[in-house]
Amino acid sequence: MRLIALLGNPVEHSLSPRFQNAAIRALGFDAEYRAIRCEASEVPGLIREITSAGGGGNVTLPHKEIAAAAVERATEAVQQTGACNTFWSESGLIHGDNTDIPGFTTALARLLGRSPAGMRVLLIGAGGAARAVAFALAQERASDVVVLNRSLDRARDLADSFSTPATSFSIHQSADLLRGETFDLVVNATSLGLKPGDASPLSPDMEIRPKAAFDLVYRPDETEWVRAWRAEGIPAVDGLEMLLQQGAAAFERWWGVPAPIDAMRAAVAR
Ligand code: NAP
Repeated sequence: MRLIALLGNPVEHSLSPRFQNAAIRALGFDAEYRAIRCEASEVPGLIREITSAGGGGNVTLPHKEIAAAAVERATEAVQQTGACNTFWSESGLIHGDNTDIPGFTTALARLLGRSPAGMRVLLIGAGGAARAVAFALAQERASDVVVLNRSLDRARDLADSFSTPATSFSIHQSADLLRGETFDLVVNATSLGLKPGDASPLSPDMEIRPKAAFDLVYRPDETEWVRAWRAEGIPAVDGLEMLLQQGAAAFERWWGVPAPIDAMRAAVAR
């Protein structure tokens, strides 16, 4: 039996075992996807052991950076974001990718009905997930990304890493100077909204009315932020579809076949 593991801390809340095992069953593979709670110091050794036994896996918070350093063949996405969420063995080497990027791009295309090429985007957050979003937006040639983050240094680092001739980045620490501005898309890549009672990532009195909103956070009953945009008639999605799509992209790295996305989506809905 092939082991596909999720390495993180904590991992108990993760939906990945549910939909990855549904995918494994749908295709009749002899494998199991198992969540393993571990310390940072254990991650490189676990990645080596699992891949040498023919397995692979995912990595989640807070171990994506250490995984990026532990793999032997990192994709450009891993190198630029500094985060690896998927590993596997190929031709005797440990490969690592960051499938949050295609996960975001695919989920965003479902929301917008097109790519964000040429769009003006407000990106809230500058942590690991925001770096994956910034990479994706630059890859898709958004025209202008305004980064809003509590820590300006982190926002500056993100802007410096991802700006290209086609995609310009600017940074802000407070939403006050953005009051009344128009955006095609607003993305919440902070962890705000995860817990009931969290502050809103962008308060409604900023009078920013985007054409669409994407929340990377997900909760069983959607997030308050998503519900608030929808109440204003603005199309909005939470991070559940991105989670599924990053999982589908990871499945394809491990198995070399298209992921049974309908079986995965049905497992989450259950
Ligand atoms: P991270 O690296 O720890 O970054 C957290 C971000 O949230 C930073 O920008 C941080 O600002 C900001 N933040 C945290 N608490 C805040 C507060 N009280 N006020 C203002 N800003 C605050 O985490 P991450 O890996 O980027 O993950 C962020 C979120 O994305 C998490 O909720 C995660 O579950 C979600 N996510 C979802 C998916 C998916 O597939 N849907 C994938 C990846 C991540 P500072 O820089 O100022 O600290």
